[in-house]
Amino acid sequence: MNHDGSSALFKSTVILLVVSVVAIALNLVFSHSLHFEPLGLFSFGLFCIAYGTAITSRSRRKEAQAVAVSSSQPKEPTNGRPAIVRDGVPRKCLFDSSLRPCHALTIDLEDYFHTEVASQGVSFAQWEHQPSRIEASTHRLLELLDRNQTRATFFVLGWVAQRYPRLVREIHQRGHEIGCHSLDHQLVCRMTKAEFCETTATAKSLIEAIIQEPILGYRAPCFSITPGCEWAFDALAKLGFSYDSSVHPVHHPLYGNPAAPRGAYAVADNQLMEFPIATWKVAGRNLSVGGGAYLRLLPYRYIHCGLAAWEKEMQTPAMIYLHPWELDPYQPHIPLSFPSTVRQTWGTTLMEDKLQRLLTQFRFAPVRDTYQAILAGNGYVARKSTFQHVEAVAQVAG
Ligand SMILES: [Zn+2]
Repeated sequence: MNHDGSSALFKSTVILLVVSVVAIALNLVFSHSLHFEPLGLFSFGLFCIAYGTAITSRSRRKEAQAVAVSSSQPKEPTNGRPAIVRDGVPRKCLFDSSLRPCHALTIDLEDYFHTEVASQGVSFAQWEHQPSRIEASTHRLLELLDRNQTRATFFVLGWVAQRYPRLVREIHQRGHEIGCHSLDHQLVCRMTKAEFCETTATAKSLIEAIIQEPILGYRAPCFSITPGCEWAFDALAKLGFSYDSSVHPVHHPLYGNPAAPRGAYAVADNQLMEFPIATWKVAGRNLSVGGGAYLRLLPYRYIHCGLAAWEKEMQTPAMIYLHPWELDPYQPHIPLSFPSTVRQTWGTTLMEDKLQRLLTQFRFAPVRDTYQAILAGNGYVARKSTFQHVEAVAQVAG
């Protein structure tokens, strides 16, 4: 290595070291001692970015060396795409989205005042009187998905389905999958099994009556199928669901289950498949890279590094989630504490740009397609075939 290269490497190492130490210190002081989650999350994100940047630059250096070594060897046709060649064998290029595996993109269809954070300022009884933003923010999201030829799964809140059936029907007619996000956003772990079965059955039949089709998937509010509430898996299987996505394998005071598997796994005597939210394992600890507040509050680079690491390590699709209200910077004011305000409203102006980058650099499909691919032993499914399938169905229906 020449002098310039050594100097650059030394400077990068010092910067990464300083950023990491500051980030860890901030996290220890603010996140654990004072429970000031947004700053703790931000500092932890800085550490992850430093870690991810180091891994990515090492990977790029190795790929550049491999390309240089193979330049004298005969080349395979690449159809205009950059091909990485190691030992004479073409490999997938990490940053070419057309060659990436396909992940599951999911939207929890709820308004800004339905969240657990907002419940500190808006009670269930006040929901009816709160100005709604759901139609505007959902249409903004639908247009973004259309521009990127991406289809997703929308887990619909029963309360929303009752009041906005036309919106639910439109989402379905635009080729997206419809699932269930409970009846009125009560956490599973705060209900009895009987209450859970009754409210979930009501929400399921409400939504199915609107789209005239059985629904396959369920997501609990706040990923609240936590340890001790596994009975909910059996209940969901008995209610006719095929898959669930209500486990978040991270440390979190409200919904974490860090001991859960990171990839898709079978539950309820193989009657139900669980798709946990995507995580990035760093130094033995699971960090969420599954979207939502993590995508909105942390730099995009953090999510990108986490998903790139997932693709290298895991054999099943990553599960990504977000909410329409996260793209809405004009949410009406709700009186909340400062940390809750940060969690509920910060980052909404940047969210559309971040989502656009995510959709450009990674490939996504509704959960039903990734689920079918896993059942078929394929693991991943191509976005193109999903999109063409949806278009063909729409043409037949039209
Ligand atoms: Zn929700």
